[in-house]
Amino acid sequence: NSLEKVYSTKASFFNRKPERVVAVDQVSFTINHGEAFGLVGESGSGKSTIGKSLLRLHDITSGSVTYKGQNVHELSKKEMRRLRPKLQFVFQDPFSSLNPRLRVGEALGEPLLDHGLATKANVRKKVMDVMELCGLPTYHIDKFPHEFSGGQRQRIGIARAVIMNPEFIVADEPVSALDVSIQAQIINLFQELQVQKNMAYLFISHDLSVVEHLCTRIGVLYLGTMMEMGSRDQLYQNPLHPYTKALLAAVPIPDPKRKRQRALLKGDVPNPANPPTGCKFHTRCPIATAACAEKVPSFREVEPGHFVACHLVS
Ligand code: SF4
Ligand code: MG
Repeated sequence: NSLEKVYSTKASFFNRKPERVVAVDQVSFTINHGEAFGLVGESGSGKSTIGKSLLRLHDITSGSVTYKGQNVHELSKKEMRRLRPKLQFVFQDPFSSLNPRLRVGEALGEPLLDHGLATKANVRKKVMDVMELCGLPTYHIDKFPHEFSGGQRQRIGIARAVIMNPEFIVADEPVSALDVSIQAQIINLFQELQVQKNMAYLFISHDLSVVEHLCTRIGVLYLGTMMEMGSRDQLYQNPLHPYTKALLAAVPIPDPKRKRQRALLKGDVPNPANPPTGCKFHTRCPIATAACAEKVPSFREVEPGHFVACHLVS
């Protein structure tokens, strides 16, 4: 994977006290217990790779991914297997990750039995409980994946993660394949589950409007580098990085009286394997100066909790 060489992940999460974050060519962030953190960027920004590396579904080249103080990339296979139920993944297209020959009850029950979290005697009851929790009628328990709609299939994908009683879920573009009318329902489900089960999320999306309602902190990624990170209010009310501003300008606003200046991004995303020098965004930045192509901007905290990597933001 060429993306792997572009950056290394230096991420810690679940620390009760967020650490001061410094990132130069490394992606560095902390997710607190029960928090929904949004990771936003165009395709090729490395979002999925980061999400997978947090769960050790993808290797890292340097740095560390820390879960409650332990680097998950240094755990033995056995230790990782013990931890696995706590760290779950929800895919963009749950259909491709569901075995078409398994009834939904079997698909949900299998990992529970596999990890010794249920017995043959109580697995069906546990499956029905989590189906109910995820808004799936329990009388569908013996149906096959193809008998469900897209939205219901994503509920199955979520149920399969939630049934393990995780502390942390990486959700990679979980609503991108769904109709807009269904997207809100699924985001609401994530929100309800977060409150009920006190789970933390890394919620990945290419669309800032999708993470706005769920995530209380958001990071904006470009070519494997964090460009801006802050609270929801900081990012939406006071975006500072030209890339964040451009992404926000591209978000459609339902109220026509509220105008947002359109500053559309020029050009395509450069090849992640061969990113531009200096500030990686300089080839598309509307306010780039000559220095931007030479010097890498540092990722600085400009107000408490609000980090930006841009030479022109003071
Ligand atoms: Fe634009 Fe320069 Fe800031 Fe990069 S450092 S975002 S190129 S102004
Ligand atoms: Mg992706």
